Formats: sequence, structure tokens, C-alpha cells
Amino acid sequence: MRIALAEIRQETCSFSTVRTTLDTFRQHRWLEGNAVIAPNDEPSSGIRGFQIAAAEEDADVEPVPILDALAGASGPLTDEILQILKDKLAAGLRQALPVDGLFFSLHGAAAAETEPDVEGALLETARAVVGPDLPIVAPLDHHANITARMMRHLTGLVGHRTQPHDGFDTAYLAAKLLLATVRGRVRPAMAWHKIPMITHQEQFLTSGGPMREWFQMARDFDSRPGVLHVSPFPMQPWLDVPEAGWTSVVVTDGDPQLAAALSEELARKAWELRERFWVYESLPVEEAIRRAVAAPSGLVVLSDTGDSVFGGAPGDSTVILREMLRQEVDQLALVPLVDSRSARAAYEAGPGAALRLALGGYQGADHCLPMAVDAEVAAVAEGFVDADANYKRAFDMGRSALLAIGALRVVVSEYAGVGGNHPLVYRRFGLEPAEAKMAVLKTASNFQHYRPMTAQILRVNTPGPTMSALHQLPWQRIPRPMYPLDPMDHWQP
Ligand SMILES: [Zn+2]
Repeated sequence: MRIALAEIRQETCSFSTVRTTLDTFRQHRWLEGNAVIAPNDEPSSGIRGFQIAAAEEDADVEPVPILDALAGASGPLTDEILQILKDKLAAGLRQALPVDGLFFSLHGAAAAETEPDVEGALLETARAVVGPDLPIVAPLDHHANITARMMRHLTGLVGHRTQPHDGFDTAYLAAKLLLATVRGRVRPAMAWHKIPMITHQEQFLTSGGPMREWFQMARDFDSRPGVLHVSPFPMQPWLDVPEAGWTSVVVTDGDPQLAAALSEELARKAWELRERFWVYESLPVEEAIRRAVAAPSGLVVLSDTGDSVFGGAPGDSTVILREMLRQEVDQLALVPLVDSRSARAAYEAGPGAALRLALGGYQGADHCLPMAVDAEVAAVAEGFVDADANYKRAFDMGRSALLAIGALRVVVSEYAGVGGNHPLVYRRFGLEPAEAKMAVLKTASNFQHYRPMTAQILRVNTPGPTMSALHQLPWQRIPRPMYPLDPMDHWQP
């Protein structure tokens, strides 16, 4: 059995002014042909999930690798890189034929400059080559925005079951579904409902609150006879596209009525829970810093909700840093900043140099301007941090430097990389984050790498492209009415 393999993953923040290009993909992952399946130690890649599933089959599975392209979360793709991806995919598939199936690992919330539905466009490209009947199955991020075109071209799909995500797990299940379909053991029948709602990121963890309840319903449905996979999709809330919104998708074994009934029930449940998803936890920045300073012991994580690099923000916001300096924080405080100019300047100047820098704030957002500081370069580094997170086991930070500003330690880096969201970003400079009083994380959900040392997590209500105050974002293309941007008392799936 010959199975074509492709992975193209990017999460788009429509409100970021940064563009995702071929260079962005090359910074993260860009593998073609046999390099896609070469032995590697990317434990959480979608391709790896497929490989493990295929190895468990009792028949021979011959993988036909095409492309593995990963670009993390950032602003929209340029039209140019989307065309490159489509061309590589089409050419690779033409060369791969005949195949028995396509395993296509996707994120599901990518948009390009003039194409709001990147995954739909990629699936359409693939379908045009392989014909209407070839099974195509995709593992997807559960923050995906499911579109009509995606559903038209997919045979089956599996969304992440947890936030933080388990990419390997999702890919493994999707591969199992594809292989069973190709061998005729199952006949996927899919149904889906769009839900006209979005919510901020502060109730996104599946370990508690309304998100846990919604995902638990999916797991209960999973265990019913005839059900293959149930996937809730709480779309990431920074995607301003015409088909934006949450989705429920149910895949059954040849039973479209059952799929439709369960999908409807899942959609209704999300709507019923809607107000609970809108409970805020974040604090004003002034109060958050005050609380962190006053905390009795242990590390306080300060989540920079408006500048989440895992949500596609640039990672260059100085809002929290500014407040730390204003309050004259005199305990060890860690701040990451993506700032290629300052990173290069500090790297060139070298350890011991004293510099006057204009830190951060270069991406044009008016809430955040470059900030003049006097800093000493404590240490410099270049290249990859071996942090295993988000489908990768190493992140290229480019040139970076540890800056000392009083008791504060700021890591400036050329590229976003892992965005300070992993302790290794500091340990590579000989600094142990467990000894710090507070650390800014450029994420609103991925606190897991700091968990062993964290005494308290404070979400900080900061402005920016990934802010929790969704009402304030300049929405233009999202369908209306949309809860809670518009008053909506009633909705039926
Ligand atoms: Zn996600």
C-alpha cells in the first residue's frame, strides 16, 4: 500500500503585521522528498505519528514522502509562499502516483494575503491531482477554522484532543483512520456544524472549565458504537476570515445520520456554554507586577496574553517590561523579546559591553513603541535551542543575547523561536529560571515547560494582536452576526 505523506502547518494571526515567507518555513522546518521520512528525533511531528501507526500495520505500508513544511504561528502567508506550497504539493503528488491514500498533516487556521482558506486551497490542489475518490485524511489543530472546501476534499479528519496539544497523538489517530479506510475496514461518513462564536484564549485549556466539559462530551461520543472520531474546534480567535467560527465535526463508520446528530449536539453544547468561555482571568499589568513582587515564594509566571508568539504575535511587546521598570522591580525578573536589531547589536558588542538600546516594539503596533534602556550584555548565543515544543524539538533563535537591566534579565533574539516559553532559553546562558522571582511567557496556554518550577500563573491583560479583548481587534472579514461581537440571544445548529 502506497501512502503519500505531506505536512504543511502554519497558524495565522490576521492582526500581525509580520508576513510568513519561505524564510519563515526554513527557520522552522522545510523538508522535501526522502528527507521527510529520514530518521529524525522530532518526537511530535505529524509525519512521526504516521510512521508509528504504519509500523503497527500487519501489511506493508510504503510511504511516499512529498513535503514537510512547518512555520509556527505568525502573520499571514504571502501569496508567493502559498503558490510555492501548492506547486510543490501538486508536483510531488503527480510524481508519487499511483498512491492508495494521502496523509496530509495540517494546522487548519492558516490564511494568506489574498487566500483566507489556505488549507482549503491546499486540499483542492491535492484533490485535483489525485482524483475524487482517493482517501485523504488530515490531523488538525483544534484551533483550526474548518471550511466548506476543506470538508469537500477531506475523507476524514482528527482534531487535537488537548490544549496544550499532543501533535503526535493526533497524527497517529489520523494515520490509523487513513490506513483503515484504504484497507476497506471503515467507510468514513462526516458531518459538521459551524457555530457562530469565538472566545478569548483564557478558557482554552482542556484541563478544566467549560473547555473540559466540551471536550469531554466529544470523548463520550467517541466511545459510542459506529463513531470513529469526534472533533470540537474552538477556533483560535485572531483569524479574520469570511468563514471564521467554531466547528464541530463527527466522523462515523458509514452512518451519516449518526454523524449529523452528534455533530449537532456538540455544536449546541458549545453554544450553551458560551458565557462561561467568556470569563476573564487576566489582570491589569500594574496589578500583575505588584502581585508578582509581593508573592511569598517561588516563580510567578506572567503570561503576556497580547503578545503570544504561539498565537502568532511578534513577541516584541515591551508593555510588561516597561511596567517592571516603572515599579523598579529589584528581584530577578526574566523577559523575552524578539528584537532582531537589538539582538544583533548586543551579539556584536559581546559580553561585558554596555549599550543604549531601543528595545522591542518594531512591528508597528501603536500600543507598543521601542523603549530606550541602558543595558549590559551578560552573555550571547547563536542558533538553536533544544526545546521540544509545538511539533519541533529545536528552535532557531538566530543571534541572541542576555541583557542585564538592573535586576531584570532580558533575552533578545533575532527570531521568535520558542519565544521564551521554555526554560532552556535562559539555561543556555547559564541562568536558572527556577531561581527567578518572575518570568514573562509569550503564550497564554503553553505553561507546561515551566510547570515544575511555577508557584503561580498570572495572566496579564496586555494589548496586542493576540489580546483577550477581542472586541477591540479591527475585525473586517469575520461573518456577522458573531457571538459575542454582536448581540445574539438565540442560535440553532
Ligand atoms: Zn492550537
